[in-house]
Amino acid sequence: MSVGGSVAERAGAWASVRDRLRERGLRWTPQRRLMVDVLAQTDGHITGAELVERCRELDPATIPSTVYRTLDVLEQLGVIRHGHGRDGREEFHVLPQNEHGHLFCSGCSGSWDIEAPEASPLVRALRRQRGFAVDLSHLTVVGVCEDCSSDRGVARRS
Ligand SMILES: [Zn+2]
Ligand SMILES: [Zn+2]
Ligand SMILES: [Zn+2]
Repeated sequence: MSVGGSVAERAGAWASVRDRLRERGLRWTPQRRLMVDVLAQTDGHITGAELVERCRELDPATIPSTVYRTLDVLEQLGVIRHGHGRDGREEFHVLPQNEHGHLFCSGCSGSWDIEAPEASPLVRALRRQRGFAVDLSHLTVVGVCEDCSSDRGVARRS
């Protein structure tokens, strides 16, 4: 997993969220506090729908529009960052440290991170040949993983 950081760094980032949300005009309600608690315990990726689901388990009165509005502001604050899953829906990284893209297998539904060094030949080529600056967190590649293309794929074809 390429997101995270030390426990102290993570705690520090979340400690200031309340004040920073207030500065943006969002009241610190029990619903927002719960949502931030849930997010702070998340490692890796979470979709808006998953977040709403987890909040609802803890507080059935959770209002989805409040969750999504707060997600927008948290992203402006740099606490979370979105990429896109195989179906294009937003997936959030919590406290992103290493920007990365994603591979999705259409056979087994597996997903893997594409780290910056791995993506750099493509990123550099696009910059050089087209003057295009790639947003690595939006690099989403759908295909077939090694496992699915070897044994099981062969078995299906025979
Ligand atoms: Zn996007
Ligand atoms: Zn696969
Ligand atoms: Zn990711």
